[in-house]
Amino acid sequence: MNNNNIFYKEKNKYFITLDNFYIIDVYVRKLLADNAVQEYITIAGYKSKMSFSRSTDVSIPFLLPLFSLRGRLVRLQDVTTTIIRQHNYPPPIGAILAELLAAGAALAGLLKFEGVFTLQTKTKGPLNLSVIDITHEGHMRGYAQFNSRHIDPNASFKDLLGSGYLAFTVDQGLKVDRYQGIVALNHDTLPHALEHYFDQSEQLETRIFIASHKTPDGIWKSGALLLQQMPTKRVDEETWNYMEALLNTLSSDEFLDFSILSEGLLKRLFHEGNVTTFDPIYLKAQCRCSEDRIKTFLSTLNQEEIEGLLDNGQLKMTCEFCNHTYVFDRKNLITFH
Ligand SMILES: [Zn+2]
Repeated sequence: MNNNNIFYKEKNKYFITLDNFYIIDVYVRKLLADNAVQEYITIAGYKSKMSFSRSTDVSIPFLLPLFSLRGRLVRLQDVTTTIIRQHNYPPPIGAILAELLAAGAALAGLLKFEGVFTLQTKTKGPLNLSVIDITHEGHMRGYAQFNSRHIDPNASFKDLLGSGYLAFTVDQGLKVDRYQGIVALNHDTLPHALEHYFDQSEQLETRIFIASHKTPDGIWKSGALLLQQMPTKRVDEETWNYMEALLNTLSSDEFLDFSILSEGLLKRLFHEGNVTTFDPIYLKAQCRCSEDRIKTFLSTLNQEEIEGLLDNGQLKMTCEFCNHTYVFDRKNLITFH
């Protein structure tokens, strides 16, 4: 038995396919490991140890070898909830940030890089700037700048963003050139904007499903499911249309129901494609700011500039990403300056 046998999970009960014919429900005893879940499962008296990826805060690469397509599945909960709560954003802004975080993790998952992948929108609407970034280690952060007087609770993506641009950057440090991609943004939805980017710049046809939801108890869930043609082999139009139709059968409720295992969800959607999943990237909300980084920045300023930043003998700097405020007093500034 392997993970590919799991068809569906409901609480601690599993539905398992064997030889593609039988569906057996199984009760398990749970053991929690660090990142993955390891469980013992008993079928007809036979005990077998299984492990599979946890279903939230993961980016799972997958292949549909029968259709020569690749994909990424991202589902976020702790990442989105932590980041949006750091700022206490109104729900329409939180929803867009949650979707950008999911999209950013899916797009970064397509690339091989050591550094930081950034996804940014800059537009003329009330939400004039949003930025999320993710390191190759899966550390994520994000923030938005908006005019709070103009946030209609029912505002759509287009109402909030208006026209402008969407940019991707991969920063791998000083030794490697920055990669940047930019696309005009005047689309009704984030998936349309991203699909347009791929059609235009990479010529790799891509479809992406994105969803977000805030639960009544304030938990933010989001996810992205990306399907992309491979550079080496293009699929015919009929097959591609069929895959799109399959993707369209996915509902936000099902996608954001994290009691359904990600592998099971992919199997349900693409059961004819012989879906193969690979090791996930585990994602977490983690800012990269620190007192040392701010001190390094302050040490580049001259005394006059430092004086200009002092207010009542104190210098306060707030990280835009995580909203943490660092406070330095004059005496403290002199010791390291
Ligand atoms: Zn920070």
